[in-house]
Amino acid sequence: MKTIGLIGGMSWESSIEYYRIINETAKEKLGGLHSAKSLMVTVDFAEIEKLQHEDRWDEAGHILVKCAQDLERGGADFIVLCTNTMHKLADQITANVNIPFLHIADATAEKIVAAGMHRIGLLGTRFTMEHDFYKGRLINDYGLEVVIPNESDRAIVHRVIYEELVLGKIMEASREEYKRIMNDLLSQGAQGIILGCTEIELLIKEGDCNAPLFPTTRIHAVAAVEKSLADAPKV
Ligand code: GLU
Repeated sequence: MKTIGLIGGMSWESSIEYYRIINETAKEKLGGLHSAKSLMVTVDFAEIEKLQHEDRWDEAGHILVKCAQDLERGGADFIVLCTNTMHKLADQITANVNIPFLHIADATAEKIVAAGMHRIGLLGTRFTMEHDFYKGRLINDYGLEVVIPNESDRAIVHRVIYEELVLGKIMEASREEYKRIMNDLLSQGAQGIILGCTEIELLIKEGDCNAPLFPTTRIHAVAAVEKSLADAPKV
């Protein structure tokens, strides 16, 4: 079993989910008392959030590169960055470590393609919905069409993430808003919805939408366990 290196704290509400899911998955796959081998380096999200909203991505990148290097030095075999948004800095991270990086959009896109879908809705932070680093990868590397909410709905999705979900607040009114927004994406031809922020699946569950959901925390965490077991002797 390889050691999974997690960069967490963005926010810790979803990092807990990663830790739980990777261990539950290792137990399911290996049985008995097995659990996943992992290391987690976890940041102060207030520092990261400030740099994001002040458009100081390069400085945020320095923080994440240091996390990744600490994981490599600590013995991690590959890196799992526990946030969709900060994959904006994936290239900066991979350029500065010698171990592989398991990209959250790749893990998610593989599930979408396997489900036979080609047009997909995307919810996430404004950065994930609007910038090219995430959508571009889905479009260019996987041939997907990506549908995002309109301007005012993007503002709602973004606000709920930063004012509620990263603080552990789960509000029924916000769930209803997300359901309405997901329905709107389906009416534009989306065949499923990417929950493209690692906290959204704390709010939205299967059954809140009339189409398949792609919960990125679960998908990424399970992919991490699969990678940790691939080509490794069963222990
Ligand atoms: N966890 C979120 C994501 O997956 C948002 C927090 C962040 O900005 O990293 O995008």
